[in-house]
Amino acid sequence: MLLKVQNLRIVYKNSAIIEEINFDVEKGEIFSIVGESGSGKTLTGLSILNLLPDYFKVDGRIIFKNNDILSLDSSWIRKIRGKDISCIFQDPMVSLNPVLKVGYQVAEMFIYHHNLSKKEAIKNAEKIFNELKISHVINYYPHQLSGGLRQRVMIAMAIACEPELIIADEPTTALDVTVQEEILDLLYLLIKKKGKAMILITHDINILGEYADRLMVMYAGRIMEMGSVEEIFKNPLHPYTRALLDCIPREGKKIEGIPGNVPDLKKLPSGCVFSPRCKYKMRECPIEPPSLREVIPGHFVRCYLH
Ligand code: SF4
Repeated sequence: MLLKVQNLRIVYKNSAIIEEINFDVEKGEIFSIVGESGSGKTLTGLSILNLLPDYFKVDGRIIFKNNDILSLDSSWIRKIRGKDISCIFQDPMVSLNPVLKVGYQVAEMFIYHHNLSKKEAIKNAEKIFNELKISHVINYYPHQLSGGLRQRVMIAMAIACEPELIIADEPTTALDVTVQEEILDLLYLLIKKKGKAMILITHDINILGEYADRLMVMYAGRIMEMGSVEEIFKNPLHPYTRALLDCIPREGKKIEGIPGNVPDLKKLPSGCVFSPRCKYKMRECPIEPPSLREVIPGHFVRCYLH
């Protein structure tokens, strides 16, 4: 097991905004966290890197290669980030330094994490740019690149030190559909070819069929359903998962959308958090929260219907 998240709970201003998060990620696996904006998926991803600001109280255990990330001191975490676990965010402009050439920014990863000389580090950066077929932009500044190329540079930075785990948070949301596919294909091939693992965080369940192995559906900071992509796409059990899948555009089918809004994580509805939007709501649903149950081996769901 590469990563094991146990009983993750995040408290903000005395409210448990994330609760009962348990999952693991195997080597070579693409594990996806899916849900609408405000479902808590990004907070979950950031907590794995211990990147949440101090005003969030994080409890539980995040075991990565036998170390509990939540109990490591900040100097250890800095060593792990980029070298063992790296991230790709939605907007590369936030992560790239606007005054440094992109090739040098990738080279810096080798200088910082592997103590290489500048010359050796640049040579390594060149190899990665070649592999990603972007060697022509190695001496460009971020503002000279298109969104797709900037995201490729982020991928170059993320894979530079061959980390065991990449956390990709909405890596293609800002890109058009063709570039989106190219970037996801690239990430998929890199992860599978090198035997690494990825947590792919997305609001778009549509993209997961081809790329993810397992998925965890989050709503209001809780797991609604979790299992293999194949099983969940074939047999979605939770009304929220079904609603997300119904939003996938298909020829001749009208997209319904999910009525209502994601609740404020600090003011959650009582009982089942999805009950105000659920068309299958029963009398007991808003009274007592259902627990997450394994209904088929490896397939978990939090709903009284199951
Ligand atoms: Fe809907 Fe009830 Fe299931 Fe919640 S527990 S998802 S309200 S049927």
